[in-house]
Amino acid sequence: MSQKIALIAGAGPAGLTAAYELLARTNIHPIVCESTDAIGGIAQTFNYKGNRIDIGGHRFFSKSDRVMNWWFNILPKQGAPSADTELKGHEIEYAADVVVKYLCPECSPLPPGEGGAAAPGEGLRSAPDPEKEDLVMLQRPRLSRIFYRKHFFPYPIGITVTVARRLGLWNTFLIGLSYIKAQWFPLKDETYLDAFFTNRFGRRLYKTFFEKYTEKVWGIPCGQIRADWGAQRIKGLSLKRAVVHAVKDLLSSEFSKKQQERETSLITRFFYPKFGPGQMWETVTEQVKKCGAEVRMKTRIAGVHLTDGKVTSVTTENVETGAREEILCDYFFSTMPIKHLIGMMTPRVPDSVVEVAEGLQYRDFLTVGLLLRKLHVQEKGKNPATNVPDNWIYIQEGGVRVGRVQIFNNWSPYMVKDWKNTVWIGLEYFVNEGGDLWIQPDQDLIALGTKEMEKIGFLKKEDVLDACVLRMPKAYPAYWGSYEQLHVVRDYVNTIPNLYLVGRNGMHRYNNQDHSMLTAMMAVDNIVEGKTDKSNLWDVNVEMAYHEEKKT
Ligand SMILES: Cc1cc2nc3c(=O)[nH]c(=O)nc-3n(C[C@H](O)[C@H](O)[C@H](O)COP(=O)(O)OP(=O)(O)OC[C@H]3O[C@@H](n4cnc5c(N)ncnc54)[C@H](O)[C@@H]3O)c2cc1C
Repeated sequence: MSQKIALIAGAGPAGLTAAYELLARTNIHPIVCESTDAIGGIAQTFNYKGNRIDIGGHRFFSKSDRVMNWWFNILPKQGAPSADTELKGHEIEYAADVVVKYLCPECSPLPPGEGGAAAPGEGLRSAPDPEKEDLVMLQRPRLSRIFYRKHFFPYPIGITVTVARRLGLWNTFLIGLSYIKAQWFPLKDETYLDAFFTNRFGRRLYKTFFEKYTEKVWGIPCGQIRADWGAQRIKGLSLKRAVVHAVKDLLSSEFSKKQQERETSLITRFFYPKFGPGQMWETVTEQVKKCGAEVRMKTRIAGVHLTDGKVTSVTTENVETGAREEILCDYFFSTMPIKHLIGMMTPRVPDSVVEVAEGLQYRDFLTVGLLLRKLHVQEKGKNPATNVPDNWIYIQEGGVRVGRVQIFNNWSPYMVKDWKNTVWIGLEYFVNEGGDLWIQPDQDLIALGTKEMEKIGFLKKEDVLDACVLRMPKAYPAYWGSYEQLHVVRDYVNTIPNLYLVGRNGMHRYNNQDHSMLTAMMAVDNIVEGKTDKSNLWDVNVEMAYHEEKKT
């Protein structure tokens, strides 16, 4: 019998996880088709003249041990300090020995006997030193703050005396009253984000810290965005707890020590590949290729064909030459936007399904990378800072369109060619494909970014050494448009036994890498177990506990 084939659309986290899992646990031959020339999808890392930049920074953080262990198997945890550890005084938990399971002998970077493995097997080796090896997962301290009225505020927002002082004592009092009101008289209808935030934080705090930024992200008022998104992001955040802590601190005899502890408790840690998230997915690609999978770049899935209710073949198209090919397959994994998938299926799917798929909306993303001699962060009442410890900063200031600033030096020093003498930042704009910012020439966007950062007091124009622009369409599946009727699409695709919708846009769900990967892993579980019901995939990120942020 000939080997079965799984066609996989997209070389992002979900598609590559599916390929890896199929190789590890089945005899199915994976063929991954990726329409662009980049590995990693939204989790790719772009290398601009030796300075690496992400599409947003990507923390490697998951509540799922299955995912965490999977990541560490590809890029083991660091066993020695990074280039900047001593200088920045970071506290890192180093790994000692690590056990790595290789898919096949070719995947092992070391020969057998020196940590290499007989295939498929396990290799015991000492944890890698990031100064000497590249395949390594770093542990990084996390700090992200909100910049508002020329002050930094902790994120997630917590109530400390410093915060109250910066907001103004009277304002803080009113925030407290509005919070009490929200607790006593909560809004009954929590369908939309404005009510969701108000009930949790009070109207005044919602207006101060949540409304503007959320509207920057989505480009529409909070009153039109379904609360599902907020529910995923905000779980675990509790103002009540923050207020209780603040009162306890006030009553404590060691008041200032408690305050200091409270503020530093916001600094947590996360994992991050030495060269950014793209390195994870480039390494996985190398491994699956060595073990027999095909990964075809610049190859778009252009048609999905069904016979007797099953996917039997797909049409691929080379995006450069336009050359088309029909490939027979036994399974089809889709991480491409649902909108595109439904539109390219033949025979044509029912009109009711097409209508919902076509009505799905997205938000797009644009990053301006700026290489600086130094920062020039002007906080009220302080001397300008040439650097800050944050990984990223939310820009709450009015009058600028930039939403967030990434500081890649603080993600990994290896992201920056000359990390000691330059600062490599990413200015993030939440935009619409084809909108005014999207169509602007790169030079204009670089000028806009520089001007906005100067305006809020973050840099001096003369310190800009180089710049680049990245555009990522469909970065965010939107929770409006026909989203409420998504079940119509889901019910239809679930009738096709060998079609698996996985990932973020693949399921039109605000999934991070871990949940995108879990859906792919569980699809392979179902194949291995001969299970045809796919409801477990749709339960990921709904039923499971998900704490995006550390509890305040
Ligand atoms: C700003 C931002 C910050 C984020 N931060 C984090 C974070 O800190 N931690 C985290 O874990 N996650 C984060 N994420 C989420 C993470 O990027 C996604 O969960 C993950 O990339 C989704 O993986 P995927 O494979 O489902 O989809 P994608 O990454 O979108 O990959 C899909 C791939 O399919 C390709 N494709 C599309 N159509 C076709 C077609 N017709 N034919 C062939 N190929 C096609 C695309 O080119 C793409 O490469 C962030 C996302 C954003 C936007």
